[in-house]
Amino acid sequence: MYIVMLGAPGSGKGTAAKILSKKTGLPHISTGDMFREQIKKETELGKLANSYISNGGLVPDEVTIDIVRDRLKWEDAKNGVILDGFPRTEAQAKALDEILKEQGKKVTIVPELVIPAQIIIERILNRATCSNKECGAIYNTKFKPPKVEGICDVCGSKLITRNDDNEETIKKRLEVYHKNSKDLIEFYKEKGVLKTIEPEDPTADNASEQAVDIILKCCE
Ligand code: AMP
Repeated sequence: MYIVMLGAPGSGKGTAAKILSKKTGLPHISTGDMFREQIKKETELGKLANSYISNGGLVPDEVTIDIVRDRLKWEDAKNGVILDGFPRTEAQAKALDEILKEQGKKVTIVPELVIPAQIIIERILNRATCSNKECGAIYNTKFKPPKVEGICDVCGSKLITRNDDNEETIKKRLEVYHKNSKDLIEFYKEKGVLKTIEPEDPTADNASEQAVDIILKCCE
């Protein structure tokens, strides 16, 4: 199964992707996480990516496509992956089709999580993520706080706030998402793989689990 999660930043696609990955055993590939890792290691790629990420823009297609092409060659990706944050442009979607075609594969389903903008902004501004990459638990300091402030309930590591989770950058990221997503959504609609998911109550504790159940039902 090759699943492409679509949804604005803060729509919950990352959380849903993590749950999907646990349930299916398929690797969760987040281009945002891959770039953040490079930034942390202060590599040339990290420096380049940061110059775009820090102001809410997109890292150029060629760079992003290359890292995904390499990642999809890994042994663990041969039966499928959960892609989160890629593709973000039509050019990336076309490149992904080509990469999968070379391996005799294609995109299985493209769930699109649709959440009201106000909820998204509120969510991102209160987002805290576990600094332990293996864990990656996500909290909302207002609605789903950890038991001990600043500490992950699951693994006890420190919680961190992403540099790009500030109001100015969020507005730019949402603008960029809506500008590019129209073409992406059309692209996947035409292929008959788009599945729009509008949670009844996106603030519910189990909203992500519900979205995942819908996605897995569609894959049966
Ligand atoms: P995310 O963690 O998915 O919200 O991504 C954080 C940032 O990384 C985005 O705002 C972009 O600057 C960059 N990024 C992540 N994925 C992509 C992509 N597929 N294409 C271009 N830039 C990306």
